[in-house]
Formats: sequence, structure tokens, C-alpha cells
Amino acid sequence: MAFLNTVLEPPAYGWTDELGNLSKPTNKQIVKEFFKRLNVFSDKKNWLSFLSWSLVVALVPFLGLFIFKYFSITGLIVAFVYSMIIMGTHGTIWHHRYCTHGAYTFKNKFWRFFTQNLTLKIIPEEIYAVSHHVHHALSDQPGDPYNAQGGFMYCFLADVNHQPIARNMDEASYKKCVNLMKHTGVTTNTYKQYQKWGTLANPTRTIVGIILNWGFWFAAFYLLGGSALACAVFGSAGIWAVGVRTFNYEGHGKGKDMRRDGIDHNREDMSINQLWPGYVAGEWHNNHHLYPKSARSGFKPYQFDLAWCYIKMMSMLGAVSSYRDSKADFLKEYCSPISVVVPVAVLVADDAKVLVAAE
Ligand SMILES: [Zn+2]
Ligand SMILES: [Zn+2]
Repeated sequence: MAFLNTVLEPPAYGWTDELGNLSKPTNKQIVKEFFKRLNVFSDKKNWLSFLSWSLVVALVPFLGLFIFKYFSITGLIVAFVYSMIIMGTHGTIWHHRYCTHGAYTFKNKFWRFFTQNLTLKIIPEEIYAVSHHVHHALSDQPGDPYNAQGGFMYCFLADVNHQPIARNMDEASYKKCVNLMKHTGVTTNTYKQYQKWGTLANPTRTIVGIILNWGFWFAAFYLLGGSALACAVFGSAGIWAVGVRTFNYEGHGKGKDMRRDGIDHNREDMSINQLWPGYVAGEWHNNHHLYPKSARSGFKPYQFDLAWCYIKMMSMLGAVSSYRDSKADFLKEYCSPISVVVPVAVLVADDAKVLVAAE
């Protein structure tokens, strides 16, 4: 626990106020911190956050070309499906269920690489995964990198302000951090390189990986449908990269208690199950907080889980060698006729027996 309390670089406004409550910065403070931590000229250790937002900016011209030069209804449908469903579901499959929670394992490195690069690479693994461990350990408490009580901007700019790893780790803590990412295949820095770059990810390897990934996908979509298709896909990926930053705020009730009886069974934190993120990306977030290590989060019949469909399909093909599925545990614990209906039936039966005996 102590490790997860200190693994992230605290923002200038701190995690807590002087009373130990959540420090709630103003939007002005948040934006100021955001630009300070993006500035690679003042500190090269800001490179990963800078790179991540540069990728978003680099996608804007593609979006412009799609809207003003290549727009078509077919293109719009492609853009919608790619940004809303494919990118979102991939985020759940790769960053969330695999990189953070290790909910399943791949048969070999090829299938891991295949899954990692199934979509355009925009969000660095370490920014998502390390901080997401902290999110689970400290959900809705001070230190939670996207604590919804901090407000919309607190969550929206969290990837720069709250999610990067701490820069003053000793060698033992850095090693623990490396271990969190070991299974992902991300090439990590040596401790000496970390002291120079402030990150787990190696700058050269990261940048080369992104260039190859973007190059491959641009060529593939260009061959399939020319510049029009490539621009629709790349432009829409940019929209996703911005839109996904709103999820953490909404997935925890926008700072309010929006949990509903019979739907949000987990009462340990403010996470909620929502239809849209559930249907397009398999993010049944309240269920997920109940069983974070499960490769499936959609447990009820209407809770369609596309990310689980991929993992299950890959398992059937032999590409995924093992997975955890907590559906049976969930149903037994929260929806079982034994725990909900049968006690009444047993009660009635027992009463009947008593009546019979009395007669
Ligand atoms: Zn959460
Ligand atoms: Zn999680």
C-alpha cells in the first residue's frame, strides 16, 4: 500500500489539504499545472506526457481533411465505429484488463504484440497502468489520480497532472514499478535511464514503436480505401483520445453518489455501471470494481461485453492461454435465487412443516 501511495508524482497542489481531505484545486490551478508538466523545454522528464498530447494534436489535421475534403456518410459510419467501439474496446482489452489487471495471459509474445497494436497507439501503457493500480487502491479518496470529487478538469487532465510515475523513486521502488509492467512487454529503462528520463518507457523505443504502428495502419487503411478512409480513421482516433478522458469522471458518478440499487452492487466506492461505456467498450465499471481481475465485466444478460468477446474468441483460437472469469461468483453473490428467493421459499416451507407438526 505504501508503495502505491507514493508511486505517482504528486501535483503542485498536492493530493490532500492541511486537514488531510482531498485537495481541490481551481480549474486555473489545474490548467497551470497541466502546461507546466507538458513543458519539455523546462524539464525533459516531461517527455512522455508531451508525446502523448502531441499525438492527439498530430491527429487533428486528419480530422480536418476528413471533414472538409473527404466527408461521406460511409466515412462517418467508419469514424464512429472506429472511435467509439474499436478504440474504446481495445483500451479495455489491452490497457485495462491486460496491462493493469493481468486478467488473462497470452500464449506467446506474438499474440501480445498483435493485441497491443490492434489499433492506433496513442496512450502510453505506463501512464494508464501504474496509475490505475493506484485508482483501485485509493478509489474516491485523496491520491486517486482521477478522483471524481476533484471535478471534471481534475479528471480530464489527469494523465498529465496525476498519472505519471514519481521522479524521486529509489532503486527498490523503481524495481517494483518495473515489475508492474513486466508482463506487458514494454521495454523499460534501467534505473540510471529512469533518473535521466523520469519514466519507465524508453524514449527511443517508444517513439519508434509509435512511428511503425501509425505507418502500418496508415498504409493498411490507405490500401483499403485511399486517403479518405485513412483520414476518417486517424481523425476519429483523435476524437476518441480526447473523449476517453471524460470516462473516469463519469464512471465514478461525476463526484456524486449515483449508485442504484439492484444495478450497482459494489458499495465500496462511487463507481457506476453505465449503458454507453458498457455497450461500446465493455466498461461495466461498478462490476469491474467488484471483480477487477476478471477478464469479463458484463455479468448480467443485458450487460454485453465486447472486450470479453475478444478475449474469449482469442482463447478459443489458442492465442489466449488463460483468463479469469468472475461471472459465476458475481451471480452467486448478488443474483442467486438461493440468496434472494429461496430463503423466502425455505421460510414458507419451514412454516408449513411447523404447521404440519402442530397439527
Ligand atoms: Zn474506477
Ligand atoms: Zn480497473
